[in-house]
Amino acid sequence: MADTDSRPSNFIRQIIDKDLASGKHSTVHTRFPPEPNGFLHIGHAKSIVLNFGIAEDYNGTCNLRFDDTNPLKEKVDYVNSIKQDVEWLGYQWEGEPRYSSNYFDQLHAYAVELIEKGLAYVDFSSQEEMREMRGTLKEPGKNSPYRDTSVEENLKHFADMTAGKYEEGKAALRAKIDMSSPFMCMRDPVIYRVRFAHHHQTGDKWCVYPMYDFTHCISDALEGITHSLCTLEFQDNRRLYDWVLDNISIDCHPQQIEFSRLNLQYTVMSKRIINTLVEEGKVTGWDDPRVASVAGLRRRGYTPESIREFCRRIGVTKMDNQVEMSMLEACIRDDLNENAPRAMAVMDPVKVVIENYPEDQTESLNAPNHPNKPEMGERDVTFSRELWIEREDFRESANKKFKRLVLDKEVRLRNAYVIRADRVEKDADGNITTIYCHYDADTLGKDPADGRKVKGVIHWVSAETAKDAEFRVYDRLFQVPNPAAEEDLFSTLNPESLVIKKGFVEANLANAKLGENFQFERLGYYCLDTDAEKEGRLIFNQTVGLRDSWAKIEQQQATES
Ligand code: ATP
Ligand code: MG
Repeated sequence: MADTDSRPSNFIRQIIDKDLASGKHSTVHTRFPPEPNGFLHIGHAKSIVLNFGIAEDYNGTCNLRFDDTNPLKEKVDYVNSIKQDVEWLGYQWEGEPRYSSNYFDQLHAYAVELIEKGLAYVDFSSQEEMREMRGTLKEPGKNSPYRDTSVEENLKHFADMTAGKYEEGKAALRAKIDMSSPFMCMRDPVIYRVRFAHHHQTGDKWCVYPMYDFTHCISDALEGITHSLCTLEFQDNRRLYDWVLDNISIDCHPQQIEFSRLNLQYTVMSKRIINTLVEEGKVTGWDDPRVASVAGLRRRGYTPESIREFCRRIGVTKMDNQVEMSMLEACIRDDLNENAPRAMAVMDPVKVVIENYPEDQTESLNAPNHPNKPEMGERDVTFSRELWIEREDFRESANKKFKRLVLDKEVRLRNAYVIRADRVEKDADGNITTIYCHYDADTLGKDPADGRKVKGVIHWVSAETAKDAEFRVYDRLFQVPNPAAEEDLFSTLNPESLVIKKGFVEANLANAKLGENFQFERLGYYCLDTDAEKEGRLIFNQTVGLRDSWAKIEQQQATES
């Protein structure tokens, strides 16, 4: 948990501080209210970290409430995955998860109360007619011919609606507010509609369902929420939120506060769009590691800490903006650079044979799991006469900038010896198949005795013991920063968003577990993919590349030498 000094400060926390200081509230009670019509994405994580984070820092509580007023689009599968994701992000809701549908009886009673007060009426106009009467931003709306029906008649009509006497779309309950309001949401909004649909929580009990705007404020109030945090698109709806609570018999009146949504470049955030990507087979599922869903990020190797840190770094404001993907990547890199054990893998292998190393010999060398953290321990890596190195780490000839293996030159094998390349063998197409080398046995953990300098270091694995592995290397899913704004979304998909490579990993990684992160030295951060278990082979996802430091160091060295 964040210590006091590192607590974020933002306009919402300032409002809360004021409310506590003035005695308006003595505790803070927030909620996270997802609609269970899809899986959570990184945008939801922003809202989760905000709501649960505030509850945590102010010793308050945060509810998880499923906003389940539309039975047509919702599923229990989503409910379960949302719970799992919230817990994985490191948060615990107060008591049992809540459901707006828990309150259907009360909501119905409040609707009746509005009718009794002459503040709601049943409208039999068609949806088309209602749309026409609503007016536009420039023109006021027109009153419905049903607006002045008597209270008694409205009570009967609403009872009939509830009893299933009207078909879907034939009758709706509307709040009687103001057809000339500059806020469209105040022009007699529909608050109840007919839906003959089975509900995942209430079964077939209801054929009328309350609308979001009517449900949300009342659910907040029933739960004693103090600050109801939502995204900016609900700014206008705050009038309706307040109107409903002001006109029913309920004591609690939470304060709605809006903040800007998270938009992340080169990806999409809307559940609807992600669903289309999945349905059209553009990605393998909601948990495809290229998707910015919580499940996708988890599978990709993101840690809950890194996502929480990202949400803290982007902050909370009322300004709409696009966050660069590099912000998110920096958070996971910072985390893994500190915490991921190092390991060696070769993704594009070429064979090295060390001719002065005995054929039947292998030896076990110690390799630190982290260069700066001895407390993370050491592991054994096998050294043998035949090794794999990265194809791009060898050249037959190169200038001084190339600090890797070159014919007739030396390089250090990470955690092992200095080797010299003597000759190569090629196939019929001229591709190098084997690099023949010899090693200096007196260079393990020390510089050559005669004082000659060996600058480059490359990684390797023993051909004797290394395990076959598949590497899934990811890039941005889209080629444009704001794909959601494109007319033809699919045409901007990045065809190179997934590149599969086949190579080897050091034998220790045969025991890699789901959820473990590694830094493959000089390559990037990787984790085991969920397919590995299903398919019984080693498959690693690239979480994020290393900072470009290798390229930079090489450049620096080049200018220095
Ligand atoms: P989507 O458009 O992806 O379906 P939504 O807003 O309909 O998102 P809900 O399930 O209704 O999704 O959202 C639950 C909570 O998460 C709401 O309070 C909503 O404001 C918040 N939320 C959703 N998307 C974002 C986002 N991109 N940034 C910040 N908060 C978000
Ligand atoms: Mg929604």
